[in-house]
Amino acid sequence: MGIRTGQQYLDKLNAMTPHVVIDGEVVSEKVAEHPAFRNVARSYARLFDMQHDPKYQEALTYTSPTSGDLVNASFLVPKTVEDLKRRRRAISTWAEYSNGFLGRSGDYMNSSLTALSTAGKWFSQADPKFGENIRNYYEWARENDILATHTLIPPQANRSVSGSEQLGGQLSARIVEEREDGIVIQGARMLATIAPIADELLVFPSTVLRGTPEDAPYSYAFAIPNDTPGLRYLCRTSLYNGGSTHDEPLASRYEEMDAVAVFDHVFVPSERIFMLGNPQLCNGFYSETGAGALMTHQVVTRTIAKSEFFLGLASELADSIGIDGFQHIQEDIAELIVDVEIGRALVRASEADAELNDAGVMLPKWSTLNAARNWYPKVAQRFPQIIRKFSASGLMALPGEADVNSDARADIEMYLQGKSLTGPERVRLFKLAFDASVSGFSGRQSLYEYFFFGDPVRMAGAMVNSYDRGPVRARVREFLNRTD
Ligand SMILES: Cc1cc2nc3c(=O)[nH]c(=O)nc-3n(C[C@H](O)[C@H](O)[C@H](O)COP(=O)(O)OP(=O)(O)OC[C@H]3O[C@@H](n4cnc5c(N)ncnc54)[C@H](O)[C@@H]3O)c2cc1C
Repeated sequence: MGIRTGQQYLDKLNAMTPHVVIDGEVVSEKVAEHPAFRNVARSYARLFDMQHDPKYQEALTYTSPTSGDLVNASFLVPKTVEDLKRRRRAISTWAEYSNGFLGRSGDYMNSSLTALSTAGKWFSQADPKFGENIRNYYEWARENDILATHTLIPPQANRSVSGSEQLGGQLSARIVEEREDGIVIQGARMLATIAPIADELLVFPSTVLRGTPEDAPYSYAFAIPNDTPGLRYLCRTSLYNGGSTHDEPLASRYEEMDAVAVFDHVFVPSERIFMLGNPQLCNGFYSETGAGALMTHQVVTRTIAKSEFFLGLASELADSIGIDGFQHIQEDIAELIVDVEIGRALVRASEADAELNDAGVMLPKWSTLNAARNWYPKVAQRFPQIIRKFSASGLMALPGEADVNSDARADIEMYLQGKSLTGPERVRLFKLAFDASVSGFSGRQSLYEYFFFGDPVRMAGAMVNSYDRGPVRARVREFLNRTD
């Protein structure tokens, strides 16, 4: 089949029968029509349609090596630096459409599956069939243009003990039965972004398992359809308030739901299992297979589009009310320019210094991407601050679309005009600023950028422990010993 259209994606979503809990309701049919998911599902449908649009098709697709159909370019196994650039072009094409606000476009999980599909040798340390299973699953996902989410984290009941020790091991999703034909899973995981509008759930190894026999039941990797019996999603309340694209320009399009995944005796068939037991191996699931590198390449590419958007928005705001000549405003715009340029430089450096791994996959330089993923969660927190600082009371002197189209229009034309914009134009721009810096949607976006790829504190620790600081320390010691 290859690339799907938006309508094919929506039809499949509406035909699925998941168990999605939201605001006291269980949604188990026509998920794409529910008010909390309808609009973001349409934004995802637009991404699927872009693959068929002659304007974007060359960037977004390549020819499947097995079927000859066009498939998404994020499934391309990179063998050369050119392939990595090709992948980046596809990722940035989608990212620029949503200005980086869709964190879970299919290319995110596709990148992970692509790398994992090449790691047969690594998987065979546990069992060669796991390598086969993940390769088959990758090919199936590629040929059917599947949209997947994933869930990695044990419930947040008590972080002073490991996930497997919480409530005597009863909270975290674990293997409770091993059968001839598969396994049975019981417990919970968090968090699964876009869970209600995805086709599949990837349940991959939890962060840092203890290498003890007690952690074996918590050590696994598998994939299941979103409407697998016994799988329940507990959603938060939507951050989209039902307003128009004028009043909620971002939330009305890009509000990606997050959900806790509850597994109530969920059966996983053998062919969907990619790892079983082996906590030590599970701890290397991302670093040893190349999945971490290709996923981070996607993340950094997406976040460049978001940094560019905030640079553009800040510049538009500054011009609209004539503050662009003030020095502290220019200082902040310069900060955003620096962020854009650092992001671009890091992703290109990761490609320039890419190396082939043992499986012949061209992986972008990990230490460079690791720097990017440690840097961005923190600088992204500044973006809404800068927008609030530029906009000030303009974020509150802000009537809605209905007012712009009412008798109040004359007042809006007169008193809300900007230096370079009419009143209604200025209102529209500041509505965007509000949704990017003050709304619930914007708060979630900041939280997302800070945490979604892992806890920055522990990522920093991992970086310090893995970075080779020997040569620079030796230089300091050599300098101390110099007598000249
Ligand atoms: C909007 C959003 C979307 C997300 N989407 C997904 C998703 O789709 N799939 C998925 O799997 N995950 C997702 N996540 C989860 C994300 O991976 C976690 O938020 C992240 O790994 C941090 O874990 P936690 O939230 O459990 O925080 P916790 O681990 O509970 O941390 C809470 C605080 O305690 C500190 N802390 C806790 N333990 C330690 C420790 N051992 N050492 C030092 N400090 C510690 C942390 O630094 C932090 O400040 C999402 C998160 C957010 C916010």
